[in-house]
Amino acid sequence: MKKALPEYDFQPATLKVLEDSPKKLFINNEWVAAQSGETFETLNPATGAPLAAAALAGAADVDAAVAAAQAAFPAWGSSIAAERAEKLFKLADLIDQHADMLAELETLDNGKPIRVARRGDLPYVTKHLRYQAGWADKIEGSTVPVTFPNQFVYTRREPLGVVAAIIPWNFPLLMAIWKLGPALAAGNTLILKPAEQTPLSALYLADLIREAGFPPGVVNILTGPGEPTGAALAAHPGIAKVAFTGSTAVGAKIMAAAAASNLKRVSLELGGKSPNVIFADADMASAVRGAQWAVFSTAGQECVAGTRLFVERAAYDQVVDGLKQNVEKMVVDHGFAEKVHVGPLISQAQMERVQGYIDQGQQAGAEIVAGGGRVGEQGYFLQPTIFAYQDDTLKLVQEEIFGPVVAVTAFDSEDELIARANDTQYGLAAGVWTRDVGKAHRYAHAVQAGTVWINGYGMIDPAAPFGGYKMSGFGREMGKEAIDLYTQVKTVWVNTQ
Ligand code: ADP
Repeated sequence: MKKALPEYDFQPATLKVLEDSPKKLFINNEWVAAQSGETFETLNPATGAPLAAAALAGAADVDAAVAAAQAAFPAWGSSIAAERAEKLFKLADLIDQHADMLAELETLDNGKPIRVARRGDLPYVTKHLRYQAGWADKIEGSTVPVTFPNQFVYTRREPLGVVAAIIPWNFPLLMAIWKLGPALAAGNTLILKPAEQTPLSALYLADLIREAGFPPGVVNILTGPGEPTGAALAAHPGIAKVAFTGSTAVGAKIMAAAAASNLKRVSLELGGKSPNVIFADADMASAVRGAQWAVFSTAGQECVAGTRLFVERAAYDQVVDGLKQNVEKMVVDHGFAEKVHVGPLISQAQMERVQGYIDQGQQAGAEIVAGGGRVGEQGYFLQPTIFAYQDDTLKLVQEEIFGPVVAVTAFDSEDELIARANDTQYGLAAGVWTRDVGKAHRYAHAVQAGTVWINGYGMIDPAAPFGGYKMSGFGREMGKEAIDLYTQVKTVWVNTQ
């Protein structure tokens, strides 16, 4: 297929991926067509033109992938842990070798600036994979001092079985690896369903998985939309766990499907409406820059985006002016443009949704300080937008927008701040900028969020647990806690008499 692509010196392998599309489903280390023969198209978010196509997995394909993953589980689950680690390390090496073209695929599919894909997503993918590979042979049980005199009791941490990973489009490869790393390290087998908007890097990963030496059935990759593909996974009785990242609404559906089918384990990393706070004693230049990048680095399409900005009244005008100046200098363009800060939104529907929030916010009395409109007529670009508001009940303030929109408000006291910061259904992340260490920790402890950044925003690390409070989900990815998500504890009693 000949594609209208931007002027850019693409790797030949990247262009080949587009030429080879639609790619089939990856089951049992083989490429197979969907049993229905159906495919679906993806669009380039920078232009709105067709980019690629992929096979559409239906219920019969899900059955086939589950059968393959189940057949592979006994051997993989009881394999020598160091050998599992070796394969994961090998996969990380292969991803490094293919990093340039994988970054290009991410930018084509998702729209993000190539610099971000190359310097952010890709290095983090392999860091994460290596960190989790390192856990494979350190998953230990314990001995338990029980009250019986002649019983020796110990625990084992065992894999769950077949894990389905259902992931979003904002960090396609990274989200895949967040789940694949600990799931495989712990001895589970996996079915990965990338988001329908961004299947390309996951499909490319399949060949690297085969090359790394994973046995057939250990990793299977099914492309398709939420319905039918994702829904069939969530409802399948042969799946032991669904690891999901995405919207709160879909997370709730997955939990319901899990409950109704086989009580499969569920871990959910969902939406956010994270409060970012600037006290008047903060290092203002860093705080303003931090507040800017906390939202706009991914065009706001990030679950941890600091979309509610609380500023102590004495610093309010300075922060709003500084933010406006910074934001108006941001270049909105396609991801391969030489100077680009903010890429497109993922789809027409998403762009219209975000514009709807902007229009509704204005009608409801919030004031636009910067931005507010579309950029260009091709692709799905919106200006970075700043709202000033007072009313915490506005939709704009309560609902996750997933677009380049920050809502700024002033506060007068710490008590008021905490009450307002926590006045949300979400609890994924929070930030605070101050030079007062006591104030920083008081806020960090009182705010209802799974991650708090003090004088910084948005850092994640393979070793640092990550996950939500409240309707931002449950389960902690990364760190050792990620292994807990993919294992269950067995207690063994031994009569020593
Ligand atoms: P976003 O709002 O980030 O697009 P979604 O929650 O809609 O997030 O999608 C995240 C992932 O969930 C995607 O892979 C999507 O295909 C999948 N998905 C959507 N609907 C369902 C569903 N009903 N059951 C299972 N998976 C779904």
